[in-house]
Amino acid sequence: MDNAVRDDGAEGFGTARAEAWVRAIATAVEKEQDRLTELDSAIGDGDHGSNLRRGFAAVLTALDGLDPAGPGALLNRTGTTLISKVGGASGPLYGKAFRAIGAALPDTALPDTALPDAALPDAAALGEALAAGLDAIRALGKAEPGDKTIVDAYTPAVAAYRAAVAAGAGLPGAASAAAAAAEQGARDTVPLQARKGRASYLGPRSIGHQDPGATSTALIFRALAEVTAA
Ligand code: ADP
Ligand code: MG
Repeated sequence: MDNAVRDDGAEGFGTARAEAWVRAIATAVEKEQDRLTELDSAIGDGDHGSNLRRGFAAVLTALDGLDPAGPGALLNRTGTTLISKVGGASGPLYGKAFRAIGAALPDTALPDTALPDAALPDAAALGEALAAGLDAIRALGKAEPGDKTIVDAYTPAVAAYRAAVAAGAGLPGAASAAAAAAEQGARDTVPLQARKGRASYLGPRSIGHQDPGATSTALIFRALAEVTAA
């Protein structure tokens, strides 16, 4: 697909912006791979950076072969690819999340350029899709806030996004609030003891380290803020 040059407008989250988001995540994961791996070496098995790098590289290849599609289909394909290419716990968790986000967005085969801006998902619609992604992660992983996982960054991100929309923010403001909240949520995992995933095997020794999955979730929301910035 090559419609990333289209500007969806300040408020719309169409195919172009969905694709730009996924590409920005791939770039961030590539850049932060060593940091993610370092964090996962402290409380896991040191593969979180390489897991996500491999997964998002495969996603970029999958997108190149994707016929023009709506943001729903594009994010669905992203999720399916992550599930099939990432072996670690994070692959199915992020994979299910992107599939759920995709399922909540329109799936039209028409390219964005054929649609009026009003037909594109708005800030509130994307917020509900992002919340569906969190629900999918919680349904699969059964983690609660405070368990030192992806959920600890994703939950405050969705809350901040929704609060911003309720206060009148558009896509740029909501996404930027979500990114800041996810980053804070990731930092707030440092004093927590892991109760889910591989890090939980360490018991109290997991305390004092930032969770790798919460950290990659912050990258994902920061990438969204970048591609929606007004
Ligand atoms: P693995 O632990 O299989 O090596 P990764 O290293 O790719 O997989 O991912 C580790 C991250 O996955 C953890 O830092 C944590 O944030 C996240 N994670 C693990 N289990 C869960 C869960 N049940 N729910 C939410 N996130 C989880
Ligand atoms: Mg790991």
